Amino acid sequence: MHALIANRKQPAAPADMPACSEPVEIIRPLLPHVVHVRREGAVLHASPAVRDENVLSVNITLGCAQRCAFCCIRAQPFYPGDDVVYLFTNTAKLLKAELAGGRRKPRAVYVSPATDPFPPMAEVQAATAQVVDTVARHGVECWLMTRGYIRPSVLEVFAAHRDRVKVTVGLTTLDRRLQRLLEPLAAPPRLRLRQIAQLRARGIGVKVSLEPLIPGLTDTRSNLQDLLEALAERGVRHVSTSYLFMRSRIQDNLLPALAALGWDQPVLEAFAEGPILSSGGLAAARYLPKPRRQRGYASLMALGANYGITVSVCATTNPDFYTPKVPAPDSASQEPLFSRQSLAQARSSLS
Ligand code: SF4
Repeated sequence: MHALIANRKQPAAPADMPACSEPVEIIRPLLPHVVHVRREGAVLHASPAVRDENVLSVNITLGCAQRCAFCCIRAQPFYPGDDVVYLFTNTAKLLKAELAGGRRKPRAVYVSPATDPFPPMAEVQAATAQVVDTVARHGVECWLMTRGYIRPSVLEVFAAHRDRVKVTVGLTTLDRRLQRLLEPLAAPPRLRLRQIAQLRARGIGVKVSLEPLIPGLTDTRSNLQDLLEALAERGVRHVSTSYLFMRSRIQDNLLPALAALGWDQPVLEAFAEGPILSSGGLAAARYLPKPRRQRGYASLMALGANYGITVSVCATTNPDFYTPKVPAPDSASQEPLFSRQSLAQARSSLS
């Protein structure tokens, strides 16, 4: 049996999170409760987001605090809802034993592909730092992606392992109002820019992902120009990107945010004729028509060139752009983002 410690107190925003001075009209939702869960057994598993058997992944939590309207994780059946995040408290300890054991070490560990490892919750960030420290001490690279604010204490852990830590920062827009609708509890975009500079200054590998592009909303010339200009000023020379894809639950979460901008119908219309595709690591989803995506990516590449920034397009979320080297597994047999054991543990903690 795993231990369960429920923390029903509303977590406060971290005191070291800088305030944003820009005017905001949108009320920030409350942070979810954190429920501590102990996991058992192997924690490393294949990553559906990475087509490399030498890259394994581990999730820090089940559930994510940041409530992005476009999020595919929030639309998954295992997602526990927006009011709770299950924090696996013994991940670092289990990882240590696993990495020291006889099995071949992975080339890299993708830390928390199914949740943001840096929500505005100190205890989750501390658990992430422990995991990064453990993995890096075993000579294995750590990959992380975030839309959050990384606390200074965690940055110090990264700096100590700067050769083995690679962080990708996700960005959609610098427009604060739009960002608050799309990513209500993620870090303000200007703070993410500052963080990119801080990571670079500490010699920590940092990449930038401009995604998801939402047709007519975040793929506009003005939105992308602002982003590219700000990134170029901070020395960024390459970005990756991908368009939004739709499933019915993603649509349910996204449409209220788009409706607040009067942009729900144009987005639905843009997707109406798009193909339904599945990719090696992702279940079937509706994509924008290929010519629409090609146009959008080409525009971003042309704009990027003006700022000395090259652009790559994500293969996983554009499966019709690439010829797979190996047949894609059928979606029913794909490795879940969370191991069955982790899911069972988290679910049983509800009872
Ligand atoms: S931060 Fe990532 S996992 Fe969390 S809600 Fe946003 S898109 Fe989803």
